[in-house]
Parts: sequence; C-alpha cells; structure tokens
Amino acid sequence: MERKENWRDLLDRLIEQHIVKEGISDKRVIEAMRKIPRHLFIPNGEKNLRLAYQDRPLPIGYGQTISQPYMVAYMLQELNITKDSRALEIGTGSGYNASLLGLLAKEVYTIETVPELARRAERIIKALNLKNVKVFVGDGSLGLEQYAPYDRIIATCAAPSIPDPLLKELSEDGIMIIPIGHGYFDMLKKVVKHSNDDIEVIDLIPCSFVPMKGKFGY
Ligand code: SAH
Repeated sequence: MERKENWRDLLDRLIEQHIVKEGISDKRVIEAMRKIPRHLFIPNGEKNLRLAYQDRPLPIGYGQTISQPYMVAYMLQELNITKDSRALEIGTGSGYNASLLGLLAKEVYTIETVPELARRAERIIKALNLKNVKVFVGDGSLGLEQYAPYDRIIATCAAPSIPDPLLKELSEDGIMIIPIGHGYFDMLKKVVKHSNDDIEVIDLIPCSFVPMKGKFGY
C-alpha cells in the first residue's frame, strides 16, 4: 500500500539534499530547521506539502514571499547566533525565519510593514509556543528603538544601503546580515561592528529579495 507522505520525511529530505549537501554545517541551525514545520507558514500549506518542502521561495500573499530554505539557513549560519543573543528581524513575512530565530536566540523582535502578515505570523508563532518572539507592525528600516541594542540583526528585504538606524542599534561586536541592492538583484552583506566601533562590511553571495520599503528603503 502506498504510504501517505508526511511533512517530517519531506523536511528531512529537504535538509539532506538542499541544506547539508549544499554546505550548511551549523548544527544548531540544522536542528532548528528540523523542528519548525515550514508548511504551517504557507497559505494552504497543509494541502501542498510537497511544494512547502521544495527549496524555493513561495508566495505568502500581499505580494510577499517566504524565502528559499537554503537562503534562510545560510543567513542564520552567517549570523552566528548564540543562546544568549537578542535578535532583531526586519521583514517578518510569514514568521518562518522568526520562529527559527526563536529557537536559536534568547529574545527575538521582528517587525513587518503589512499588518495582516504580522498578525498571521504572530498567530503561528503563538501556536508553536515560541514565547520569546515578539512581532511588531511598522517600518523596520527605522529599527526598533524600544528594545535596542541588538546582538544580531537580520533583514529579509533588500535595502538601497545599510539603514543608519540599524547600524546604530547593533551592539558592539554585533553582526547584521542584510541584502543590499535594488530588490531582486542584490548582494547579501555581513556587517560586523567591532569593539572600537569600526564597521566591517563583507560581501557574501548574490541573492534576490523583495525591496525594503520605508524611510531608509525604497
Ligand atoms: N522573513 C520572512 C520573509 C519575508 S519577505 C519569512 O520568513 O517569511 C520580506 C518581508 O519584508 C515582506 O513581508 C515585506 O512586507 C517586509 N518589509 C518590507 N519592507 C519592510 C520594512 N521597511 N519594515 C518591515 N518589513 C518590511
């Protein structure tokens, strides 16, 4: 008899074939990915299990997308999050990345411009019982002063340049991962704030993200 595919098998296959095989080695990141069912974050994901576990970005409504799993894993690995990190995410979208951050960091603050997406993400995050993740509606290009500074900042939308408020809100020795470009043809950058307030910017890989809106976006 044919066995119905379950999400755990599909997720395991995704992780083996597209995450580990493509060079992601951070065990904490891989473990976190095994624990968060991606289909929950995709509209009609329950009915489209196969699609949810392909290594592709997918539409989540409001012209936005959930990022490609490999890219999510790559960004989280480069962020080098520790259990005591306080993290800020710009672009909650579906809430998938924020949920992974919730397993990796101590406190997570994530901000989204589209209120409907923020609310949907918040619901899923609550259902997953991730109590250390807080969702905000607003322009994340302005940062989130209330809880600053942050040890780690991750943007999942592309900005024309590194928004000043984000640089200010990054802790000493903090790391920020952010796509810079016009949106769609971008360069993923790693920004490190050294103890003497020296800023180091490293080009990682080409990537394609939706544009960051707002004051320091497009
Ligand atoms: N991290 C998301 C991917 C989201 S796509 C996930 O795991 O699903 C990028 C998101 O950034 C979109 O939802 C978009 O609405 C949001 N966005 C764009 N500009 C923004 C801004 N200035 N502040 C906060 N969110 C923004």
